[in-house]
Amino acid sequence: TGATLFDIAELIEQAQRLVQPEATEAGVTIHALSCDPPPVSANRIQVAQVIVNLLRNAVEAMGESNLAPRKITVTAKKIGRQLEISVEDTGPGISPEVELFTEFETTKANGMGLGLSICRSMIEANGGKLWHDATYTGGARFCFTLPILPDST
Ligand code: ADP
Ligand code: MG
Repeated sequence: TGATLFDIAELIEQAQRLVQPEATEAGVTIHALSCDPPPVSANRIQVAQVIVNLLRNAVEAMGESNLAPRKITVTAKKIGRQLEISVEDTGPGISPEVELFTEFETTKANGMGLGLSICRSMIEANGGKLWHDATYTGGARFCFTLPILPDST
């Protein structure tokens, strides 16, 4: 499955750099908070794709809104034997008519509505879970987990 051991904080930084031009264009600032997470074993390319997708969705949601400040916060923290990565934004949140994780569900004129479904299946293929945190009221918040190797601290 192409799994390697890697530093998620470093991958978050790379994803952030990739999305930075679109974020700047939309007036969005991205903050990455790391608690020095332990290395995870997963397909690095797939996890990168997931983080980029979640960041892009957040940028797109805020780019279309009049809300301020426009901010994305990415956090990584260890919860038991899982690493939980959260991407939260200060955008308008999920429109009530959108059925998340359903293929071809999109509110965007040029959207495909595949991003979240693909993200979920890629994270599940790596032994984790991906969900929308409906308890978060400050905008939208998506979380995913990746297993930490049993012998890492
Ligand atoms: P697409 O981005 O092509 O529309 P996605 O599967 O990535 O497809 O997202 C599906 C829909 O979920 C989006 O069209 C949007 O309505 C909603 N959505 C996803 N992320 C966010 C977010 N961060 N804030 C608000 N709505 C979101
Ligand atoms: Mg998308």
